[in-house]
Amino acid sequence: MPEIQKLNEQFAAAEPEEILGWAVRSFPYQTAMTSSFQASGIVLIHMLRKITLDFPIFFIDTGYHFPETLEFKTRLIREWKLNVLTIVPEMGKSEQLRLHGPHLFERDPDLCCLINKVDPLLTLQRELGLKGWISALRRDQAETRRNLRPVMKDEYGNLRIHPLLTWTRERVWAYIEKHRLPTNPLYDQGYASIGCFPTCCTAKSEPGSDERSGRWAGKGKVECELHSRLKSEK
Ligand code: SF4
Repeated sequence: MPEIQKLNEQFAAAEPEEILGWAVRSFPYQTAMTSSFQASGIVLIHMLRKITLDFPIFFIDTGYHFPETLEFKTRLIREWKLNVLTIVPEMGKSEQLRLHGPHLFERDPDLCCLINKVDPLLTLQRELGLKGWISALRRDQAETRRNLRPVMKDEYGNLRIHPLLTWTRERVWAYIEKHRLPTNPLYDQGYASIGCFPTCCTAKSEPGSDERSGRWAGKGKVECELHSRLKSEK
């Protein structure tokens, strides 16, 4: 396992392509990316395709995605020939209803995210023996992401790799415009961050607010726990 402190020094001002190239070379067939096909993810996927064409991308299908998101994902898989593995929760919705009652996302969003997002991904990650996990987190997205580092360890000792960490929202959209990349049509309707469709999980953001301010608004929650519990760089 590489020395994380050294890597973070090396990658402090690195371009995302350099970090991606390192990840792909260092852990062949042991690294994957997770994406819900939001703007930052599209940028990273576009960069990754210049390095390798069949890089595995995990999409967590919570069963609550907007139809627009699912259609956009299908379109991108077809047009960009992506290697996407869709992960579904082990516990079906009828079992969730039986055990936890209706509208769990409203009453206990942490438990809903745990069942439908976090557990399915971590289980698969363990089963496949992955060493590294690339995601498109950026520091400017929310207060909870300000202290992230380019390379971190999760609670299982696996590496979390954040190539786009220092990019701003403006830079992401400038890249999208420059390369004429497709995006989820919900951005045109005023959504700044797109997750599950219940309005308590994804709402339109106020202009000038944090990009993730429309996520679980009023619930005191801004993360789904997929990206929390990371150890700061050692
Ligand atoms: S974002 Fe909402 S609907 Fe989706 S898993 Fe989390 S709580 Fe459930």
